[in-house]
Amino acid sequence: MTRSSGVRRIILLTLGWEDLPKSWSVHGAPPEERLCEPVPGVLLECDGGWMLLDTGFNPALIRDPALHRRFHGRNHDIQAILPGPDEPLEEALDQVGIALGDISAVAVSHLHNDHAGGLRHFAGQAPIHAQRAELSYGLSDHPEPEHHGIFRVDFDDPNLDWRLADGDVQIAPGVTAVLTAGHTPGHQSFMVEIDQSAGGGGFVFAFDAADLAENIDMERPVGGFIGCEAEDTLEPIRRLKAIAAERGFRLLPGHDPVVWPAVTAELTDRWPRMDEP
Ligand SMILES: [Zn+2]
Repeated sequence: MTRSSGVRRIILLTLGWEDLPKSWSVHGAPPEERLCEPVPGVLLECDGGWMLLDTGFNPALIRDPALHRRFHGRNHDIQAILPGPDEPLEEALDQVGIALGDISAVAVSHLHNDHAGGLRHFAGQAPIHAQRAELSYGLSDHPEPEHHGIFRVDFDDPNLDWRLADGDVQIAPGVTAVLTAGHTPGHQSFMVEIDQSAGGGGFVFAFDAADLAENIDMERPVGGFIGCEAEDTLEPIRRLKAIAAERGFRLLPGHDPVVWPAVTAELTDRWPRMDEP
C-alpha cells in the first residue's frame, strides 16, 4: 500500500460573518466603507483523517447578552453574525456530511475569537497545532489580548492537546504551517499540497495574513496588527506570494466576501459529495 504524500480533498466552510469597517482588513481604507466578510474554516482530508483549519466563533459569547457586552460589545464596530440557531461549526460540518468526531486534528491560524471560538470542542479529542508565540501571547498579560479580540476562555482549557511550533513546520503529509506573524504575534498560514491521486496542485491559505484579495494583489497592509506597524504586515504577504508562485499554487485570502464563496463552490464541483446525486 502506498501512503499518499498530499491532501486528497479540500472543503471550505463558512462559519459565520462579520459586518465591519473595511479598514480592519485594509489599513487606511475609508472608515465609512463596510464589508460583510465570511468567517473561514477549511477541512483537509489527510492520511490520518480530516484536519480542520480554524474553528469560527464561540456562539455563547455572542448570544448571551452579558458575555456579548464584555467580549464583543467593546469592539465597537465589528458585528459578529452567526449562520443559524445552533453551534456554527456543527451546522457547517453537517452541511458537508462530516461529524465533529471525524476530525482527527485541528490547526489554528491564530487565536482571534473568529478563529479559535470552536477549539473547545476538541479538548481531549484531537491535537491542536498552533505557533508557540501565539499561545504565549494569548495567555499572557490579561486582559491585554482580550482588548485585541483574543479571548482566553476560547483556548485556556487544560485539556487542549497543543502541538506548538516555532516557525514553519509540516503538520501533516501535504500540510505545512508557515509563520506569518504581524496580524497577531504568532499568526500562521498554511500551504496545502493536493495528492497526485486527487489531481495535484495546491493552495496557500493566508487566513488573516491577507484578509482580502486586494491585500495580496495590490500589496496593501492589513488593518489589524499587534506588536508591529502596518507596513510590517507586507513582508508575510510577499513571502506567501513567493511560496505560491514557486509551487504554482493559488494563494487565498482569509476573509474575502467574493473569493471565499467562489472557491467554496469551485472545490465542491471538483470533489462532489458521494451521497449526493
Ligand atoms: Zn484575526
